Amino acid sequence: MQNLDEIENLIKLISKLPGLGPKSAKRIVLKLINNRDELIKPMAKTLAEVYKNISRCKICGTLKLTSIECSYNECKILEKKYDKICVVENISDQWSIEDSNIYKGYFHILGGTITSVGQKKEDLLINSLVDRVKNDKIEEVILATSATVEGQTTAYYIQDSLKDTDVKITKLAQGLPVGGEIESLDDGTLFSAFKNRSKINSNTN
Ligand SMILES: [Zn+2]
Repeated sequence: MQNLDEIENLIKLISKLPGLGPKSAKRIVLKLINNRDELIKPMAKTLAEVYKNISRCKICGTLKLTSIECSYNECKILEKKYDKICVVENISDQWSIEDSNIYKGYFHILGGTITSVGQKKEDLLINSLVDRVKNDKIEEVILATSATVEGQTTAYYIQDSLKDTDVKITKLAQGLPVGGEIESLDDGTLFSAFKNRSKINSNTN
């Protein structure tokens, strides 16, 4: 391969995307280069716009316009009042659950799992989840993390972090295939996982 820094750097960046290794990154880079005007140009512009205008809420973790500023204990994008928070790993999980119309309530998006590479516990918005539970009269926290070791470790850590509150904590039912990630589940599986969710803490509620 030729030694062009620009290309090398792009390949390195693209290999960091989920599901892509160096080989697929190379294919993508070639596709981009062969379609400069149709792909690279609009993509660079769109990426710049997304970078400038879209960010994650530091409180609930969902996506929002950067121009809407959420203060420390008030997330301005959450208008409706619910008494449930569904905790998911990623925004793609939130989207799947929303699309399935199974659940009406708040979301809290961790942005990863505790053992994800480079993911620090403090980045997972668990402290702000605890604050939300305390401040927003939340009655139930539904842990909808993946049925992976990382997902379950994270769920356990959250349960422990909430032990000083009297919120009811539930977990999606064991219909989840082992290793199953929420975003890849069909609506039927999600529906029964939600419907048959079980309480996992021994608090009073
Ligand atoms: Zn928010």
